[in-house]
Amino acid sequence: MTLPSQYPDRPTPLLDDQFRPLTLGGTYPCPLCLQGQLQAMLLMEVFSCQRCRHMLTVDLPTQQVCVVDSPQTIRWRWTGRAWQTVRSATQRITPTIGWVAGGLLCLPAALVWVAGYIFPPLPAPPGELPFSTLWTGLTVMAHGVLVVWLLASYYQLPIYLAATLRAWKYSYLS
Ligand SMILES: [Zn+2]
Repeated sequence: MTLPSQYPDRPTPLLDDQFRPLTLGGTYPCPLCLQGQLQAMLLMEVFSCQRCRHMLTVDLPTQQVCVVDSPQTIRWRWTGRAWQTVRSATQRITPTIGWVAGGLLCLPAALVWVAGYIFPPLPAPPGELPFSTLWTGLTVMAHGVLVVWLLASYYQLPIYLAATLRAWKYSYLS
């Protein structure tokens, strides 16, 4: 039986020139804004980003950082080259989240399709999609965008965080 290691899987530093462990003396790309650089604050085990001004606590044994000035706890593990989001048990995709996402995607579209089936609109000209089919497709697409937005917000995907931060800066700092 092998015990699970608390350290991330990583190549041997001697064999990989690109590998850089997480240390307080280093500079690392910011996992929140993806544009700034993280540097340790003086006499503290905290990194700060010179661009987005977020602060992240550092856990050197596990090579992880955790954002401290956010309502949601978000952790990243440094792999030696890039950040990897660490998901807690509550942030993993569960069957319930899958069912809710599937319901949000399918139920409204099914309602639109049933309405078009029961009360068929005027027949479409030859070569064009019937209105009810087109409307059902648009409903699936619109709710798909909603589901993707909700999942990106819940799982704090880096691209979502960067877009949110950019929108926040644009609306408050300009
Ligand atoms: Zn940043």
